[in-house]
Amino acid sequence: MQLNQLSAAIVTGGASGLGEATARRLAQAGVKVAIFDRDAERGEAVAGEIGGVFCAVDVTDEASIDAGLETARAAHGVERLLVNCAGVAPGKRTVSKKRDTGELVAHDVASFRKAVEINLIGTFAMIAKCAAGMAGLDPVTPDGGRGVVVNTASVAAQDGQIGQAAYAASKGGVVGLTLPVARDLSGYGIRVVTILPGLFETPMFASVPEEYRKALEAGVPFPSRLGKPGEYAALVAAIVENDMLNGETIRLDGALRMQPK
Ligand code: NAD
Repeated sequence: MQLNQLSAAIVTGGASGLGEATARRLAQAGVKVAIFDRDAERGEAVAGEIGGVFCAVDVTDEASIDAGLETARAAHGVERLLVNCAGVAPGKRTVSKKRDTGELVAHDVASFRKAVEINLIGTFAMIAKCAAGMAGLDPVTPDGGRGVVVNTASVAAQDGQIGQAAYAASKGGVVGLTLPVARDLSGYGIRVVTILPGLFETPMFASVPEEYRKALEAGVPFPSRLGKPGEYAALVAAIVENDMLNGETIRLDGALRMQPK
């Protein structure tokens, strides 16, 4: 599918980082973009700059997804591309020790559940609802292609570090659903691909001290630096344009393999 066949797209997490870069890249190519994010201030600002639409959506709240879809589709028509970038990256060990008392504390279930709700269930809810819309569109490629879904997992799905149990589990779930969902949607001409980014320079890294950042960069074999959000967006565009890519997960990481910590 060519980018110019994508009348409309939805980017979750489009207010910041990888999603923002993707929203900008798509808009540059003439695609009408709806940003679904819970950050209204940044979301409105980005949507305004790219001539898109902002929808205040929390991907863990079905009613807000439905309302967002109604607004986006009224403005742009049914989307042919969904890019799932909304996500959080919590860190906590399975068992930790309190600094002051030395007391051993178990990872709380609530924060584990929250990570899975946002990163995994939110991703799936968006896929199912968008795919139901895309399935009713006319095909636009010679093979009968109607739409594309791009998800964002993480290299942590494969080499999760210490403190990443919840994050890695949520992203591992996204990797796990990629093939069966691609199979589910194959009869409708909708492709599904998941990107596993390594370390990317987004606001998620803003608070990382310079020294630690340098150490992280040194751990990336080549190129030894953080990835640029535009490089993620370029892969989204390449996935859209390559009709043979489907049911696959792609690491985008400069050959990084994360160590335990
Ligand atoms: P970011 O924090 O810059 O952007 C994430 C966006 O998601 C924010 O705008 C935030 O408001 C939104 N969001 C969070 N929870 C939401 C919810 N419940 N509903 C709607 N919107 C919500 O982060 P980023 O670095 O651009 O990360 C984007 C995705 O890529 C995430 O899923 C992250 O796990 C993944 N990822 C990032 C990196 C990296 O190095 N930056 C590496 C691997 C994977």
